[in-house]
Amino acid sequence: MMTPRDRTVLIVEDNEDNRIVYSTMLRHHGFRVCEALDGEEGIAKAHSERPDIILMDISIPLIDGWEVTQTLKREQATGHIPIIALTAHAMPGDRERAMEVGCDSYLAKPCEPRAVLAEVNRLLARPRAGA
Ligand code: MN
Repeated sequence: MMTPRDRTVLIVEDNEDNRIVYSTMLRHHGFRVCEALDGEEGIAKAHSERPDIILMDISIPLIDGWEVTQTLKREQATGHIPIIALTAHAMPGDRERAMEVGCDSYLAKPCEPRAVLAEVNRLLARPRAGA
């Protein structure tokens, strides 16, 4: 049985307040957390940290969260990692776009930390394809 301590969450988010809120909450619940501040760092850390799940802000510098998600989902080393998209100012069509690029889930900001936690736990509890 995996415990949160064995689980790493990568938070890709350029807003410091959001990073602090989500990382504090996840660490409090026993997760290991790593952070990336822009799309390039997000791709790099998805490879170097091998997270179990990714929280992906969509509006981030350098490469937006849609493109980062699409890139990670196409790569063999990272394609299996569940990705939860977080979008501010949710627009019509965002949900469709999230599914199109391969996001496993989608949450509109502002998003309660407990809703994020519930979604992280839900996705980590899913049986992995091929596992
Ligand atoms: Mn942002």
